[in-house]
Amino acid sequence: MKYLFAPWRMDYIGKEKPKGCVFCQLPKFDCCAETLVVYKGTYAFIILNRYPYVSGHVMIVPYRHTADISEITAPEWAEINQLMVLTVKALEQEYKPHGFNIGMNIGQAAGAGIADHVHLHVIPRWSGDANFMTVACGTRVIPEDLVVTYDRMVKAIGSLQIQEG
Ligand SMILES: [Zn+2]
Repeated sequence: MKYLFAPWRMDYIGKEKPKGCVFCQLPKFDCCAETLVVYKGTYAFIILNRYPYVSGHVMIVPYRHTADISEITAPEWAEINQLMVLTVKALEQEYKPHGFNIGMNIGQAAGAGIADHVHLHVIPRWSGDANFMTVACGTRVIPEDLVVTYDRMVKAIGSLQIQEG
């Protein structure tokens, strides 16, 4: 797959990759555009996908390192669900998508990029977005810089939390 516009990728390639599991490492830092961690909860956090299918491709990740969904506890699931709904509302507010794909890829055979640490994908969809990709012959356009997406999501989540008190 080729990207037409992905300036952040050049930054990433030039840097040393973090050692170990990125989902274990990234939430240890303060939330920032560098780590793409948008929000940190008690048991789980929200992070932007560094290689998004579309703008606003977000993941909900439990802090605990496990590949096995049967090891996720009830409080962890509760917060994963809560953050999933918060993410959907924030994306609706900022991006006005027509629909969502929400789900987990369990195991490398299912397409999981980081198979050792379970995570839930939330992907906003627009009518015709798949058609566009077909027309573009396998080339996907990322219309927005990740730093911009990051700022918009942090702002949207912040405003939703104020509304909910
Ligand atoms: Zn991990």
